[in-house]
Amino acid sequence: MGGGIFGFTMGLSFTFLGSGTSYGVPMIGCGCPVCRSADRRDRRLRAAGCLRDGTTTLLFDIGPDLREQALRANLDRIDAVFLTHTHADHLHGIDDLRGFTRLSREMLPVYAQKDDVDFVRQHFNYIFEDGDFRLGWGIPRLDLRVVDGAAVPVGDVSVQPVPLCHGRGAAMGYRIGRLAYLTDCSLIPETSYPLLQDLEVLIIDGLRWHAHPTHFSFEQAFAEARKIGAGRTYLTHLTHDIAYAATERQLPDHIHLAYDGLVVDCS
Ligand SMILES: [Zn+2]
Ligand SMILES: [Zn+2]
Ligand SMILES: [Zn+2]
Repeated sequence: MGGGIFGFTMGLSFTFLGSGTSYGVPMIGCGCPVCRSADRRDRRLRAAGCLRDGTTTLLFDIGPDLREQALRANLDRIDAVFLTHTHADHLHGIDDLRGFTRLSREMLPVYAQKDDVDFVRQHFNYIFEDGDFRLGWGIPRLDLRVVDGAAVPVGDVSVQPVPLCHGRGAAMGYRIGRLAYLTDCSLIPETSYPLLQDLEVLIIDGLRWHAHPTHFSFEQAFAEARKIGAGRTYLTHLTHDIAYAATERQLPDHIHLAYDGLVVDCS
């Protein structure tokens, strides 16, 4: 644990760029206590994360808050993007990836499951039209790549995809070393549990206390945390029902709420 001297960390670190549900918190037009809270941990951009290990930097999801998230985290170089699924709150910042490829002058690998690669290519076709370089670096230069079950090597790290169920759809979680990022899930298939053994840090969807058809509730997330047995668990994709300070005190041992800007170190 800890950031070490001069911010240098041994092992990998994961930064929560956003810990909020699809609306973000505060929600437009809502006057509830959490949406009006002065605690910065109650202000949640859409769910996303950045993982750093050695010289490698990975981005998990590219939602509509991507630009603001990159500025806040001083993020100007990434080696690859891993997309969990194609819901708007995880994808619709895709155009802002041009900020990175404008600087790097290189194609940026974007990994996603097969159906999601097809979806992105179809819905953001202006990015992928072959031979159309009229816009130069004014559009993101992306190299879409399919993840299946196999681990993906990127720089200093290996990224293991972890298939998840997200309502009737599918989402992809990812494991790097002893950390797993499992946002947007309502069920973990039995075949994915062997990929989640011996975790130090589990980051998992925990939307709110009461049930939801496509996300784990807190009680469900607690049960998954117990089953997986990670050293520490962080709940993310939080709604405006969750007041950080009051809720954090109520959680079981070794389970915490994520908040924007939180950095978690992992050996
Ligand atoms: Zn989401
Ligand atoms: Zn509210
Ligand atoms: Zn989703």
